[in-house]
Amino acid sequence: MKIVLLGAPGTGKGTMAFSMSRALSLPHISTGDLFRFNIAEGTELGHRAKQYLDSGKLVPDEITIGMVKERLAEGDCREGFLLDGFPRTVPQAVALDEVLKLESEELDLVLNLQVPEELIFRRITNRLVCSACGKPYNKLDFPPVQEGVCDTCGGPVIQRRDDTAETLRTRLDTYYELTDPLVTYYQEQGILLNHDNSGTHTPDQVDSLITKIKEQIKLNRQSSATAISQE
Ligand code: AMP
Repeated sequence: MKIVLLGAPGTGKGTMAFSMSRALSLPHISTGDLFRFNIAEGTELGHRAKQYLDSGKLVPDEITIGMVKERLAEGDCREGFLLDGFPRTVPQAVALDEVLKLESEELDLVLNLQVPEELIFRRITNRLVCSACGKPYNKLDFPPVQEGVCDTCGGPVIQRRDDTAETLRTRLDTYYELTDPLVTYYQEQGILLNHDNSGTHTPDQVDSLITKIKEQIKLNRQSSATAISQE
């Protein structure tokens, strides 16, 4: 299965990816996490990306596409992947389609998470994350049992540097300008599934969404097989 998670910052892509990658046994590839890892490690890529992350702007396409191509070439992606935060521009989406086409593959599904903007501000400015295992928390709704310590792995729970109201405004404006056109792009490919992600999710709700995703992927594959046989 090859799945993309689409949605503005704060629509819950990371939280959804955390549950989905476990339920579907897919590697979770977050471009934001890859950039943050490179910044923390002080790599050349990290140096080039840092100013963009700090200001809430997108890292240029050629840097981002190169990084994702390298990651997708790794062995664990052979059977599928869950992309979180990529693509974020039309040229990135076109590059992804081209990479898959080289292997006679295509995306199975794009899950588009939708949340009203006032809720996005509340979520992001209270968001916390375990910097070791990536488990998401929220200061108001799901704080870790022991402050600053991950319930699952004991790693440090931190607030991201770019999770401020000011940077969030830039990230949202960038989303509307450059990423929102991807909704139409994938709608036209017939693989977009919209999901209202404004509520909190019980394990049962996550299970029923996973069932819906699997059914939708089956339908998408049937209609793409029909289209190929009619060519
Ligand atoms: P995220 O963790 O997905 O919220 O991403 C954090 C930051 O990483 C973004 O604000 C961008 O600066 C950068 N970033 C992540 N994914 C991309 C992408 N696909 N294209 C360009 N920049 C990205």
